[in-house]
Amino acid sequence: MALDSYGEPAVRDQGPFQFLIKGVSGATPDGGVRVFGHHRAGVWKDQQPLELVYRDGVTHRLERVDMEPPLNEVCASRGQRVLVIYGLRVEQVHRNHWVRATLSDCSPACPDCDRPLKFGGFVLSQREEGGERSCRALWRCEQRHVWWNWADCPDQPLEMCPHPELFRC
Ligand SMILES: [Zn+2]
Repeated sequence: MALDSYGEPAVRDQGPFQFLIKGVSGATPDGGVRVFGHHRAGVWKDQQPLELVYRDGVTHRLERVDMEPPLNEVCASRGQRVLVIYGLRVEQVHRNHWVRATLSDCSPACPDCDRPLKFGGFVLSQREEGGERSCRALWRCEQRHVWWNWADCPDQPLEMCPHPELFRC
């Protein structure tokens, strides 16, 4: 299985909306924070509940997010997009944070101890059959059991993560 950092220019339609912030351009005149980055997965739906996921897994519900139209078709197919995030100051938004559809309402329980699991980021992995690359979501409970599942198949059972060091904290 190959693990990788996020260098792959592709958008997947499946799964919840996921956007990786690669940089912050600054404040907009109407009080938003303009960020550029990669739309990694899911379909953008205007006004869907979104949250900012910090690297320690803490999430912050976002009041409103707008997506600017793609610059051109190449940017569109690569997922290179600009978001404007409202309700936060520029210094609260950083590179390598995720904006994603709110998952916290349906966070799974730890299969070992039944405690709530905290989301710990995504890792790019290779599916065993076919070599297709996709994202896995990492989860950890307060007893430090680490699990993962395919981000585009959230209904499948959690598997014990053989690389617990990937959980970013
Ligand atoms: Zn546990």
